[in-house]
Amino acid sequence: MTSNDKCLFCRIANGEIAAKKVYEDDQVFAFHDINPQAPTHVLVIPRKHIPTLDDLDPNEASIVGTALVRLAQIARDLHLTADGYRVVCNTGEAAGQTVFHIHFHLLGGRTFGWPPG
Ligand code: 5GP
Ligand code: ZN
Repeated sequence: MTSNDKCLFCRIANGEIAAKKVYEDDQVFAFHDINPQAPTHVLVIPRKHIPTLDDLDPNEASIVGTALVRLAQIARDLHLTADGYRVVCNTGEAAGQTVFHIHFHLLGGRTFGWPPG
């Protein structure tokens, strides 16, 4: 799997930087956000280093598809499904992206407003 040794999330996924792991397999890594915005706030990332959704090649669709399937299972495992949860993928600086390795925020345990801020 392509990894970038300067990328924070690559380094978390390969164990170089500690994080509270929620789930891992050969394609996906999930861990608790260091600055949670909800009672449950998990980041789900593909192991492959792809900076943003805009950098995703059409032949890489299964990478984000697999990450979302894993996210839904994590939500079930954390008992978020009955009340609902929010999935966010900030893409680009203006949208609030600060770490340039695709990640899905899994947020649950409270009510969410719409539209988002
Ligand atoms: P973004 O703003 O790019 O959508 O989301 C990046 C997320 O990564 C933020 O919610 C931020 O709190 C989280 N984050 C940044 N640095 C670390 C870290 O070192 N460890 C963990 N677990 N989360 C981090
Ligand atoms: Zn990366």
